[in-house]
Amino acid sequence: MVKKTSTEANKQDCKGCNITKDQPRGGIIEMGKLWVANQYWGGEGFLGWLALQPREHRMQLEQLTDEEAREMGTAVRDLTGRLSKYWGKKEEWKQDRLERVYVTYFFESVFDNNPTQYHLHIHLIPRTRKMRALISKEGSINCWIIHTISKMNGFPEEYFRYAERVDELMEALRQESS
Ligand SMILES: [Zn+2]
Repeated sequence: MVKKTSTEANKQDCKGCNITKDQPRGGIIEMGKLWVANQYWGGEGFLGWLALQPREHRMQLEQLTDEEAREMGTAVRDLTGRLSKYWGKKEEWKQDRLERVYVTYFFESVFDNNPTQYHLHIHLIPRTRKMRALISKEGSINCWIIHTISKMNGFPEEYFRYAERVDELMEALRQESS
């Protein structure tokens, strides 16, 4: 049986369902048959922080079909690989290796007073060497504060989301084979 939340978003108005049609700035990356990724535009985001969502309207991971669940793993692996390749090739970023891509699923915004109009999505958050310095204290990395990093003093300017940079990044990610 498919579980439903009381806060289930209306499919007709769902921006997640329409993301292929709406084409957020930078466009989308088609991952397999069933998933699409785009630059994440939420306030805490930065360049290369991606949102990955199923094409079909799903509000919980438990609702994914077997094929969607399988493709999710492949999509996470391939997007991580493509991000790493992009970082490795970009001359200006040579001094700032991509060391990790965080993969997270929160989707708590469905419970907000003004619930999100998106369906479920997974965040892929690039974390570079410079970023490590910003979130480290006494030799350990506090990855839990990654969402605050783009507002910190010293956040690398090269990762601000200027439209042309997003276009370039997304075009490169579409072209990369993993
Ligand atoms: Zn939807």
